[in-house]
Amino acid sequence: MPEAPKHDTTPEEHRKALKFIEDVTMNAEEVQRRVLSEILKQNSCTDYLHRHALKGSDPMAFKRRMPIVTYEDLQPDILRIANGDRSPILCSRPISEFLTSSGTSGGERKLMPTIADELDRRSLLYSLLMPVMNKFVPGLDKGKGMYLLFVKSEARTPGGLLARPVLTSYYKSRHFIERPFDPFNVYTSPNEAILCPDSYQSMYTQLLCGLVQNTEVLRVGAVFASGFIRAIRFLEKHWPRLARDIRTGTLDPEITDRSVRDAVMKVLKPNASLADYIETECGRDSWHRIIPRLWPNTRYIDVIVTGAMSQYIPTLDFYSGGLPLACTMYASSECYFGLNLNPMNKPNDVSYTLIPTMAYFEFLPLNRTGSAELDHRDLVDLVNVKLGHEYELVVTTYSGLYRYRVGDVLRVAGFKNKAPQFTFVRRKNVALSIDSDKTDEVELHAAVRNAVNHLEPFGATLFEYTSYADTSTIPGHYVLYWELRLGGSTAIPPSVFEDCCLTVEESLNSVYRQGRAADGSIGALELKIVEEGTFDKLMDYALSQGASINQYKAPRCVKATPVVELLNAKVKSNYFSPKCPKWTPGHKQWNKEN
Ligand code: AMP
Repeated sequence: MPEAPKHDTTPEEHRKALKFIEDVTMNAEEVQRRVLSEILKQNSCTDYLHRHALKGSDPMAFKRRMPIVTYEDLQPDILRIANGDRSPILCSRPISEFLTSSGTSGGERKLMPTIADELDRRSLLYSLLMPVMNKFVPGLDKGKGMYLLFVKSEARTPGGLLARPVLTSYYKSRHFIERPFDPFNVYTSPNEAILCPDSYQSMYTQLLCGLVQNTEVLRVGAVFASGFIRAIRFLEKHWPRLARDIRTGTLDPEITDRSVRDAVMKVLKPNASLADYIETECGRDSWHRIIPRLWPNTRYIDVIVTGAMSQYIPTLDFYSGGLPLACTMYASSECYFGLNLNPMNKPNDVSYTLIPTMAYFEFLPLNRTGSAELDHRDLVDLVNVKLGHEYELVVTTYSGLYRYRVGDVLRVAGFKNKAPQFTFVRRKNVALSIDSDKTDEVELHAAVRNAVNHLEPFGATLFEYTSYADTSTIPGHYVLYWELRLGGSTAIPPSVFEDCCLTVEESLNSVYRQGRAADGSIGALELKIVEEGTFDKLMDYALSQGASINQYKAPRCVKATPVVELLNAKVKSNYFSPKCPKWTPGHKQWNKEN
């Protein structure tokens, strides 16, 4: 365990952190002006700013001339950097690595160039979390947090830069590994277990260490709700082994990583009474309230349950017996945005305060986001957004994104001093999501079109389809509902439908395939064949709910319980993908070259 510092400076540091939040939110406009001018000054020699006729750091010229862009607009520049061009293309500071976003373009993860300084900005946002939490839940310095944190695979671009997810980058940085002792941030997981690249060994040992120190645990969590639920599922499968290790004080031989073994053996001691307790609790018929039963002093669960993750709230409530769910921050690979200043609020009331020092923020009113010609006059500054209005977030960052559309829709829920607080409304163009995957309708449609080719030899055609993200299973999985018109006389064998499932999966983006094949965070895709006439019934239902008959289109994705129940009542047969789709780390393009 890290040693306590000689002088406990935490109260003073917390006071400073809270004062920082007060100051930057009070002076949000001024801070934003300063941030924009710093970014423009720092990057004044870049190709990108020259291309848009911006020389020097003139914010007015930026406001007038800088176009609003998406990832696709920047892709040629990003590929130049990935291929090894070290000239100042987007940013004058050296690009330290690429962060691989869960957003995709052309089926591959987006690559976000980043610079070393960004780690300091991310660390700053992390350093604000506990001072805020301490106002609502005091005494968290008297125990530990059981946080299930993981690293994911890394790749190298042809130019030699690392490409990895933002959290992997952060956990592997000295900011995380060499963090000074802070009594508010003591974790049950040793760094070695968090950094273990084998996800089984990492999860096993993190849960083991959490169980061994169960009475010291005051909060539990993971980044997203889906990850936390996966950990509970892992526990459901592996508790007999974990309890055995605790009883004997020895570590399962399947944990082969030397450094992980050494780190775990520092906390693992034989404890028969704890092993008995775990066996009794885990052996009960119901796992209702398993969290407070195994970790009796837990005050809250720290997981993001806003946005797509809200589908997991009922499952979390079941396992936690209704413990508070704390959504603490809002961040992305592009930039960390802000934090929740009322972390004990119920998920529906969560809003995030954007911290004005993180980036230069602008907002595209939602009614303008679909316009073909976006104009700078459409954009609204951070301090000028209006209560109750919805906007798409547009960022300009120190690492070289200028007026970049993040793709998130936010609603103004209130203000902290002059800085707005936003409810996360949705990610644009996402039809299906289980974990960090984000599948849009266009991609789904193309995947379904590929799959129905298997039906052709049987004279069958797809009349209508829809989809559903089923999170009642752990892990959750995609479900497709197909209504067919059968033309031929030969029955379609189940193996053909299974081939359809696999073809859909093979056609989906690399984040989906990684979730299926490498992380185990998404279950096998299910195809449900429904009776003829089902989609007519679906239309009748929509009309009864006020939809207009002229404008009615079958939804490509359904969410509402009555609709899912209607579809499920009409299922004639169902099939699962027989194996995982192919996935390899890195980009298709680089892998081809290797
Ligand atoms: P990535 O680029 O893979 O890091 O994903 C970032 C995206 O995750 C954001 O743009 C949001 O769409 C989503 N996200 C991150 N934090 C939150 C949050 N607190 N609530 C809802 N969605 C979030």
